[in-house]
Amino acid sequence: MAFATVRDRYSDADIARFYEAGLWRPETFPELVDQQAEHRPDKVFVTDGTATLTYRELRDSAQRLAAGLKRMGIGSGDRVSVQIPSWAEFTQIALALNRIGAIMVPIMPIYRSDDVGYVLRDAGVRAAITCGPFRNFDYPSMYQDLRTSCPDLRDLIVARGDGVPGDWREGQRVAVDPSLYCGYCAACRAGRGNLCANWNAIGDTVSGAFAEYVAVPFQNAYPIPDGVDDQQGALIEPLSCAVHAMNLLGPVVADDVLVIGAGTMGLLLLQLLQRSGAASTTVVDRKASRLETARALGATEVAGDVSAASHGPFAVAVDATGAPPAIEAAFGSLDRGGRLLVFGVASGDAEVSLSPFRIYNDEIQIIGSMAVLNSFGEAAGLMAAGAIDTAPLLGPPARLDEFGDALARVRAGEGVKVQVAPGR
Ligand SMILES: [Zn+2]
Repeated sequence: MAFATVRDRYSDADIARFYEAGLWRPETFPELVDQQAEHRPDKVFVTDGTATLTYRELRDSAQRLAAGLKRMGIGSGDRVSVQIPSWAEFTQIALALNRIGAIMVPIMPIYRSDDVGYVLRDAGVRAAITCGPFRNFDYPSMYQDLRTSCPDLRDLIVARGDGVPGDWREGQRVAVDPSLYCGYCAACRAGRGNLCANWNAIGDTVSGAFAEYVAVPFQNAYPIPDGVDDQQGALIEPLSCAVHAMNLLGPVVADDVLVIGAGTMGLLLLQLLQRSGAASTTVVDRKASRLETARALGATEVAGDVSAASHGPFAVAVDATGAPPAIEAAFGSLDRGGRLLVFGVASGDAEVSLSPFRIYNDEIQIIGSMAVLNSFGEAAGLMAAGAIDTAPLLGPPARLDEFGDALARVRAGEGVKVQVAPGR
C-alpha cells in the first residue's frame, strides 16, 4: 500500500512558511506530551465528564497502550481504525498510535456496518478500536460480523470494555509466565502449548521486562504471595522450567543423580531432585565458586569433572549446560536403564556423539524439556511454601544505571542469577 506524504498536499515553500509563522512546530505529539508531563504532570489535559487525564496519566497510559499494541504485532505503517464517542480515551489512543508509528483511521460513531466495512477494507485496517454497546448500538458485535468481509482485520480492542476478570489491583506484584501460545495449532490442542507451531514468549519474541512497559495477558500473571520477595518472585519463571523438566523426567526416588552445570537452572533442579527423593546428588561444574554453592545446598558430592566423581554410574543424568561435551559425558555416566535429561539450551547446529547400541542394549531414555508447560502455578506454590532455598542463588540486585555491568557479568559467567531492580 502506498503512503501519502505531507508533500502530496503542501509545497516546500508552504511548509517553510508554516514553520516560520509558528503554525507548525518541529516536535512530535509524543514529544510535546513528554515535555508537559515533566513540567506540569498533575495539570488536567483532557476530560469528558466521566474520565479525566492529567499530562502524566496521559503519557503513562498511552505508553502502556502502545506496549499492548506492539505486543499484538501492531507497528509502523499499520492502519488502526478508531470508532468511539468523544471520550478522553481518544487522546490516549491517538498518542499511543503516534508513538508506535501506526496510522489512525478515524470512523464517525454514527457509521454502521456498510460504511464501516467499506472504510476497513479500503484502508486495509489491521486492528479496530471501538467502544462497548453505546446508545443502544452494539459496536463490538458489528466488528465481529465484519471480520469475514475484512480479511486484514485481525484484532478488535474495546475501550471501556468489560476489563480483566478477577480482583487485580493497581500496584499488585505479579510473576509472569512468558508463554504466548496460539491455542489453535495441533500441539496447543493436544495440550502441549510449549511446542506451539506459532510459539511466542514475552522477553523472547516480544519485548520483555527490559522494556519500559510490558503488556501481559491477565492469564499469564500470577500474584506473588506476601512472603515471597521481589527477587524470589523473579525466580518463579526459571523454577517453572525446572518443574516442567521434573514432570517429564518422572520419579527419581532412591536414584543416584548427576547434574552437570551449577548455574541457576542446575541449582534449582538440584533442589527439586533432592526433594523428590534422590539417593545421592553429584554436581559437576568447572567453576569452583558454583560448586561451593551446590555443596551449601546439600549436594552429596561436587566435582570439576564427571570422571573425578566417586559416585556413578548414575540412574539419572541431567545436563544443565547445553554444551555437547557435557551432554556426551552425562550420557556416558549413565547406568543401564538410565535416563538422560537434556535441559540446557545447545546452539541450533550443535551435534553430539552417542552410542545407539547403548541406547538399545541398556534401554537408555533421552528426555528433552522445553520451557514451561502448565508448571508456573506449581513453581509459585513451591516458592510460597519456602521449598526453594534462594539465598545462595541471589546477590544484591544491580541498579538500573548498572545495567551494562550486570549484562557483562552474565556474559562472563560471574555470579549465579544476576538481577536488576529498577526502583533501587
Ligand atoms: Zn499453538
